[in-house]
Amino acid sequence: MSGFDPPIEEIRFAISAAEAIAGNSRHLGRDAVEAVLEAAARFATKHFLPLNSVADREGCKISDGRVQTPTGFADAYRAYVRDGWNGAGIPARLGGQGLALPVALGVSEIFNACNLSLAMGLMPSAGAVELIDRFGTEAQKQRFLPRLVTGEWPVTMALTEPQAGSDLGAIECRAIQDGNALVLKGQKSLITWGDHDLADNIVHLVLARSPDGPPGVKGLSLYLVSKRRLEGEQPAGGNDVVCIGLEPKMGLRGSPTASLVFGAEGGSEADLLGAENRGLEQMFVLMNQARLKVALFALGSAERARQAAVAYANSRVQGRDADGKATAIAGHPDVARMLMSMEARTEAVRLLILYAASHVDSLSPNELASSVGSEMQQRLDLLTPVVKAWCTETAFDVASLGVQVFGGMGYSEECEASQHFREARVHMIYEGTTGVQANDLIARKIRRDNGASARGLFAAMTTECRNAASELDDLAGETRQFEEALRRLQALTQWIIEQPQSRMPILQRNGAHYLMFFGSVVATWLSLAAATHARSFAASNPAPFTARKARNARFMVRQVLPPAMALGEIIQTDDGVDDEPSAAVVIVRQAYA
Ligand SMILES: Cc1cc2nc3c(=O)[nH]c(=O)nc-3n(C[C@H](O)[C@H](O)[C@H](O)COP(=O)(O)OP(=O)(O)OC[C@H]3O[C@@H](n4cnc5c(N)ncnc54)[C@H](O)[C@@H]3O)c2cc1C
Repeated sequence: MSGFDPPIEEIRFAISAAEAIAGNSRHLGRDAVEAVLEAAARFATKHFLPLNSVADREGCKISDGRVQTPTGFADAYRAYVRDGWNGAGIPARLGGQGLALPVALGVSEIFNACNLSLAMGLMPSAGAVELIDRFGTEAQKQRFLPRLVTGEWPVTMALTEPQAGSDLGAIECRAIQDGNALVLKGQKSLITWGDHDLADNIVHLVLARSPDGPPGVKGLSLYLVSKRRLEGEQPAGGNDVVCIGLEPKMGLRGSPTASLVFGAEGGSEADLLGAENRGLEQMFVLMNQARLKVALFALGSAERARQAAVAYANSRVQGRDADGKATAIAGHPDVARMLMSMEARTEAVRLLILYAASHVDSLSPNELASSVGSEMQQRLDLLTPVVKAWCTETAFDVASLGVQVFGGMGYSEECEASQHFREARVHMIYEGTTGVQANDLIARKIRRDNGASARGLFAAMTTECRNAASELDDLAGETRQFEEALRRLQALTQWIIEQPQSRMPILQRNGAHYLMFFGSVVATWLSLAAATHARSFAASNPAPFTARKARNARFMVRQVLPPAMALGEIIQTDDGVDDEPSAAVVIVRQAYA
């Protein structure tokens, strides 16, 4: 069994630093945050952690028409519901614990790291509760909220169909008016925890075509579909929702990824949630949260990979050091660099997620509901694609280094590095691939407002950087190097804004590189700012803690920024006009001519 140790002190520090940098600290006091994280760690290491490798080995299966999850999952989930953990991030007025989002995410990081397959099934609950609270009727709130808050009924997000992945406008699943009732017919695929044996009932949030909706995304509405037909608030018989298969996956094998058919025998009773034809817009409330939470899944994978690599590198003796003495591999400079890279980048991922989340927490319900975004809302909107894509890509690199540190054993299924690597690969795909996030960043978040929100973020970085520079003598050179990278990002962003619309395909071609540069600058800035914050945070035992934070910030500046900058600037230098189209592109052009 794995020796994973939840990084409570690191999480507590990152919450404190991210909130201080965002200028928003409204959570529980320091001791209370520690108590919550410690309780989460006790629970998760007892109930979730021991099942992690079992889940990878056993996977899920369909037996007698029912989905069976790995041994122990159902008991662990029951304990999770019983002990009230599902309500961690749900407002107290709805029956949850009302933790500020950064603290609730800190709790989730621990669950994710202990057992990602199981934790994935917990993710949509809080967002679904928020959706129903904002858009639901009184009857829907009464019917669904109490059991969604406790987790008695888990939730799925059912968007994808075989022909509709990144392009949700291609959704065919449709609602039909059947007398007084609405029923749903169609198929959904790749639905996380789409069917299982953890609970009596499941609530599907389904994006489907409205009965008379126009084509494309403007004809999509959001429907609540219960796995079991509801009589009042009580589940009765089946609701014509059938799981027809589970994906045999590369990783996350304990998480059943289901193909679901709705309404094969007449129709699945459905409840319209909110306004007709506004489904995608409403779903974005949940999807934007989910993008931060997928980044948090990635953080779980990275932290596990990092801890496993450190333990192995300190115990595996191989080769000799500079003095000719036998050494653990951690003593070799190349291995030491890999370990440092894993640590600095994992910490930066944590900071970036929590920094974005600190903006969510500052939003009043009015700002949340308003279509005209406040500055905080705009900052969050700008950061969301960066957080999703940069954190997931970075975490995958971290997990890959984890395999490298283990050498040949890293490639063996006997070794846990392989599980983290396989699991980390998917985070760049669901909730919008990296390419989709890059398009969002360039087209919607930067060009649409003529760079106003990006300039706001750049200004905040410049100010904070000056403050840090005055306090961090030992990082003065790094701070100057960072400022130069920030200047180049600003210039590049301005250049992107000035390009005519006709050049969008050329911008999109290297958009993912630009996003990675953008993310690396923000993450490095946060690492530098956190190094300053560490001095006040670790007042009781400052030296090793603050030295480590400074070392990680230095690593980000020296090792992460330069390649990211070179990559980002490709968007300006490679315009693609001289390229011969590849054979595949020629085939597509002919087919769609
Ligand atoms: C383990 C797992 C769990 C999942 N869970 C859920 C779930 O719970 N609910 C749910 O609804 N879905 C879920 N999905 C589906 C997931 O959201 C989709 O796989 C994802 O949105 C990509 O869609 P696709 O697979 O059809 O790929 P495609 O959309 O076909 O994309 C294939 C490639 O083309 C690129 N591409 C496509 N369109 C564009 C574009 N416009 N611009 C640039 N590049 C583009 C993509 O970036 C990608 O590289 C899950 C998937 C997996 C693997």
